[in-house]
Amino acid sequence: MATDPTLDPHALDAIDPLGWARAEFVGAASPLVYFDGNSLGRPLAVSAQKAARFITDGWGGRLIRGWDEEWFEQPLVLGDRLGSLTLGAAAGQTAIGDSTTVWLYKLLRAAADHQQRVDPTRTEIVLDTDNFPTDRYVAEGIAAERGLTLRWITADPATGVTLDQVAEALSDRTAVVLLSHVAYRSAWLLDAPAITDLVHRAGALMLLDLCHSVGAVDVQLDAWGVDLAVGCSYKYLNGGPGSPAFGYVAARHHAELLQPIHGWMGHAEPFTMGAGYRPADGMRRFLSGTPPITAMIPLADTLDLIEKVGIGAIRAKSVALTEYAVQLADTTLADLGVRLASPRVAGERGGHVTLTHPRMRQVVADLWTADVIPDFRHPDGLRVGLSPLSTSFVEVATGMQAIAARLR
Ligand SMILES: *Cc1c(COP(=O)(O)O)cnc(C)c1O
Repeated sequence: MATDPTLDPHALDAIDPLGWARAEFVGAASPLVYFDGNSLGRPLAVSAQKAARFITDGWGGRLIRGWDEEWFEQPLVLGDRLGSLTLGAAAGQTAIGDSTTVWLYKLLRAAADHQQRVDPTRTEIVLDTDNFPTDRYVAEGIAAERGLTLRWITADPATGVTLDQVAEALSDRTAVVLLSHVAYRSAWLLDAPAITDLVHRAGALMLLDLCHSVGAVDVQLDAWGVDLAVGCSYKYLNGGPGSPAFGYVAARHHAELLQPIHGWMGHAEPFTMGAGYRPADGMRRFLSGTPPITAMIPLADTLDLIEKVGIGAIRAKSVALTEYAVQLADTTLADLGVRLASPRVAGERGGHVTLTHPRMRQVVADLWTADVIPDFRHPDGLRVGLSPLSTSFVEVATGMQAIAARLR
């Protein structure tokens, strides 16, 4: 391998314009191979100091005054930063808080209810069989609760939902379409602008799940005309286990959409504490309860880093990493019976690569004991998650060699 200069990981690291960023993360000096930054990103070293300082100075020093001074607006202030740095979203349309699951429930129900009010014959939610379980379960729950029908697209698990499949599923009964921008299993990158256009021409609303794309691929929600979006912050945004998710609602929909969890933090006058719920104007109406301020600290640190390097450079690094992993899979794993279960064309692929082999369950278990950490996806998939800011080419080469060694 070292004789082929295009596959020499040291050479690739040496010319990587983002190579320096890896050292910003906890564990960068360790030989551990981390292929799961798309499930739980590594922490930034600076987050340890920021969190400690928040506890002593922010929380410990400002005490309850912190709510007036900063924290009450923090879900919207940090949301705007996340929106402008990673989502192509103008200010006032993104908020942080809750989990992705709760955001899905709030936004999908708000959208479906609105569509039903305007036209009671719009009774269908379009979604696909290969979406992440929580997305499917939430949609099933809302359908049962509101008497709606789910129209399922059967997605190819090695690629994903196509424009033709969406066209076929749409009708004048469609209320909302819920799809993941990057498929969690195959990394298939949806043609989001074209699909959104199609959805709008059918009179439906587009809700995009960005969990596997935010922080790894370029997202342009405003330019694409997407109506609603959700995503988590603990994957490529390194927010930490259970860090709060975000919701995006295009400004044109704020006045007409009402989400179902009527909490005081989404009230027009939360501190009047009066009778009856009256939703705030703008993005605040999509908040419900007290926001998780402490849990937003690491996310803010990742946004600082993204601001420094730009999402364009991050996507370029992500493509280089997945191209490299695919090359190594072709040259070192294909002969061992490993198949690529992700798109071959970089433009159709997000930030990870899935490899299948009948023995992958045992391979992943063995690798974990040797400090090589990919994840396993039932029934035979090994996911190589390549977080662009924290992963080196040497790490990719080491991990791929370790996989090959267990299949020989
Ligand atoms: C990771 C992920 C989720 C996670 O939802 P939580 O509420 O944070 O557990 C949801 N949807 C997709 C597509 C994901 O990849």
